[in-house]
Amino acid sequence: MTLTNAQEFTRAQAAMPGGVNSPVRAFGSVGTTPRFFTSATGPYVTDVEGREYVDLVGSWGPAILGHAHPAVVKAVQDAASRGLGFGASTPGETSLAELIEARVTRDGVRPIEKVRLVSTGTEATMTAIRLARGATGRDLIVKFAGHYHGHSDGLLAEAGSGVATLAMPGSAGVPAAVAAQTLVVPYNDLDALGEVFAARGDDIAAIIVEAAPANMGIVPPALGFNAAIADLAHAHGALLIVDEVLTGFRVGPAGWYGVDPVPFTPDILTFGKVVGGGLPLAALGGSAAIMELLAPLGPVYQAGTLSGNPLAVAAGRATLDHLDDNAYRRIDRASTEIAAAAASALSAEGVTHVIQRAGNLFSVQFAEVAPHDYASVKAQEAFRYPPFFRAMIDAGVSLPPSVFEAWFVSAAHDDAAIGRIIDALPTAARAAAQ
Ligand code: PLP
Repeated sequence: MTLTNAQEFTRAQAAMPGGVNSPVRAFGSVGTTPRFFTSATGPYVTDVEGREYVDLVGSWGPAILGHAHPAVVKAVQDAASRGLGFGASTPGETSLAELIEARVTRDGVRPIEKVRLVSTGTEATMTAIRLARGATGRDLIVKFAGHYHGHSDGLLAEAGSGVATLAMPGSAGVPAAVAAQTLVVPYNDLDALGEVFAARGDDIAAIIVEAAPANMGIVPPALGFNAAIADLAHAHGALLIVDEVLTGFRVGPAGWYGVDPVPFTPDILTFGKVVGGGLPLAALGGSAAIMELLAPLGPVYQAGTLSGNPLAVAAGRATLDHLDDNAYRRIDRASTEIAAAAASALSAEGVTHVIQRAGNLFSVQFAEVAPHDYASVKAQEAFRYPPFFRAMIDAGVSLPPSVFEAWFVSAAHDDAAIGRIIDALPTAARAAAQ
């Protein structure tokens, strides 16, 4: 018997806390029933009731070529037919590491000489921090308010994404002693950061930063911000961890590293989402000197039963292989058209808004002036998003279920899909106006 979305949600809530395995999926902040999907192809997802939606979530980033891209599916099927995993080394892992090292380059500089593959973005940032602490012999980490780096204990303070959606200041269960090792600074505020370094600079192991923040909606870095924080960290003997879990291989072939108007010098870069092509895979990379501090060569321990899983590696390789200039052109074009249509629909209804962009990533914010940090993001008229969201999903467009998330466009968003989004926007804008 096929259940409706509402029935599936009731069933799920009886079996799982909140009915979900990741909080934002519960649709709590948009006030409607989560859709339960059964299949997805190209720019579309289909729910248990047989309704098709144009998808602007894209599995939260990995589905950059569109869902079930034939080459990615075939690569995974071929890998699966050879065995699901060996808990031992495979040639494919080396190939993926080589691909990452070769792609992340700018003006002949390659900041990644060595890569470690892990299974989630959370693990990548957690390992990067352990590595920075191991490299510097210091404990303190600086993060920015509104940035999300996964759910490890030390990184949940004033975090973006689901933590922001649920308006949580952090998380219960994090020991005070652990939280005290993380200093939280307002984003885009070099003075505040300078003060923190003036006071505690000798104890700071690293700054961790989203390359271009996308977990409080899009809030692009001020011109030269990444370069300036790299210089500040380095002047104090600290490292810069640039988190490209969301932006990596999405905003361009070399991620935000390749497109920031002012080049910057990261020590460790983290990746996830796109690099796993839809399967659980993430990565961190940096100079050989830093990365070789990891076990088995060095004293910083990290391991994983499923690290470098052959199916995930196959999906990641096939995805990167198909992310050529043409694919980026398609993503950029679709993103520009959808953002422009959203802006004009909202303007037509007199809804105060800005659309902030970071390359092909964008989000709508209901504010007069473009928010530049977490405080200004939180000050927007966020109450306008739930009715906007509900009108879109009722019209067959699946947006991220939170105003604090980016809209993910794929290379499969063709004119037909974009047209369906454009058709849905006027009604949604009217709903947002009320
Ligand atoms: N870092 C950033 C910038 C992210 O956007 C995310 C997830 O959204 C993470 C880290 C955590 O990745 P994961 O959900 O795979 O643990």
